[in-house]
Amino acid sequence: MGTHTAEQPAPVAAGTGTTAVPTRTGLLIIGASQSGVQLAVSLRALGFDEHITLLGDEDHRPYQRPALSKEFLQGTVESESLIFRSNEYWAEHNVDLVKGEYIVRIDRDADGSGVAHASSGRQFPFKRLALTVGARARKLEIDGGDLDGVLYLRNADDALALKARVGDAKDVVVIGGGFIGLEAASSLQKMGKNVTVLEFGPRLVGRAVGEETAEYFLQAHRARGLDIRLNTSAARFRAASAEGDKQTSVAGVELQDGTVLPAQIVLVGIGVIPNTQLAEQLELTVDNGIVVDRFALASDGTTVAIGDCANMPNPVPGSEPGERIRLESVNNAIEHAKVAAYSLTGRREEYAGIPWFWSNQADLKLQIAGLCNGYDRTVLRRDEERGKFSVLYYRQGQVIAADCVNAPLDFMAVKNALAKGRNIPADAAADPATLLKTITTDS
Ligand code: NAP
Repeated sequence: MGTHTAEQPAPVAAGTGTTAVPTRTGLLIIGASQSGVQLAVSLRALGFDEHITLLGDEDHRPYQRPALSKEFLQGTVESESLIFRSNEYWAEHNVDLVKGEYIVRIDRDADGSGVAHASSGRQFPFKRLALTVGARARKLEIDGGDLDGVLYLRNADDALALKARVGDAKDVVVIGGGFIGLEAASSLQKMGKNVTVLEFGPRLVGRAVGEETAEYFLQAHRARGLDIRLNTSAARFRAASAEGDKQTSVAGVELQDGTVLPAQIVLVGIGVIPNTQLAEQLELTVDNGIVVDRFALASDGTTVAIGDCANMPNPVPGSEPGERIRLESVNNAIEHAKVAAYSLTGRREEYAGIPWFWSNQADLKLQIAGLCNGYDRTVLRRDEERGKFSVLYYRQGQVIAADCVNAPLDFMAVKNALAKGRNIPADAAADPATLLKTITTDS
């Protein structure tokens, strides 16, 4: 256990707030991404008046990630437009933004206060702690994994590294047919690259959508020229061979069957691992993320943990008691941060709203409302002429989720029905000409 004196926060310097950390902050938020930013903003909206330190390990000001695999990669948005809040905002709201500090250890006192120690040697004393530490890209541990040009796409530096190489590349192999893989593959194809996607499993986006949607995406991407190979995995990455010269750049991907695909860039998007190291060191309960209750409190009853790193009770109305879930999405980061902000201000408010997700891949705009776990029936709505496609998922006659491609009205109707505990009868929903909101019923 660490010991420290309970001094009052020193005045915070206006401006960037990158160095003026007070002696002891009221709340230390570790992780300066979507959920950490939202937590600080929501706390101020609720009148939380203690000093806040928002600390991140990247050298960038907090930014929005979704564009990294799309507009940012394609060069259609500037990095400045991805920044969440101005330096003035943080200064005016008594929030110190600390960049480039990686916390390696936390000492706690019995009252929940403590000191966080950064790898640089800096210390950050706090009264209360929030872990918004997110998740890291899962690494593909095969031969050649350390060659130049084998890349991941999780943060801004990853995106910059990819952008820096993309100009010289003709062939790209994307490993993983999930959201990152398909979004980046579509962007790279649009940028004129010859792109092959390798998916280990029997279908695309396996964790997030049902079979019909996965099949729709497979056909749609193939029709747009993407070479997608299912049930395929990479055996090793090959370097260019040159006499007497040690080659350090990737030149190809060797598949399990011996086929070699040329690749000057390999982009790996095979999922993420929640960052639970600090929680483990604090002896908080960890099980596929930091286990929290309905009010975003970890097992010590004082630390809040939210966003990608947190394993929470399933917030969807009607879910089984005791069912838990870890969600990786922008919407969850925002909603979960609001729950934590209430907790930290002494109120008890449960998660509001229905989980939802989106993914833009070329001209395919996927929106997902709800979670399709445990469905027993699907209803397909397809309008070939207008390029619309939706799948509604049912459990015991009740709609529980929908995947909608270029069908925002379907998405809104299902999202609203779920939020209000209403239903959209399956038989009536099967006619794609019917507006779903007109057939929504009370149960
Ligand atoms: P993901 O959505 O979990 O997809 C990873 C995919 O890679 C899965 O289909 C997985 O198949 C496959 N895979 C796993 N090991 C493989 C291997 N050795 N070879 C080939 N394929 C393999 O994760 P992600 O696409 O990496 O995205 C990372 C995170 O960013 C996720 O949290 C994601 O939700 C988030 N993200 C979200 C959005 C969005 O919401 N629009 C966009 C980008 C990223 P199995 O399922 O069979 O294991």
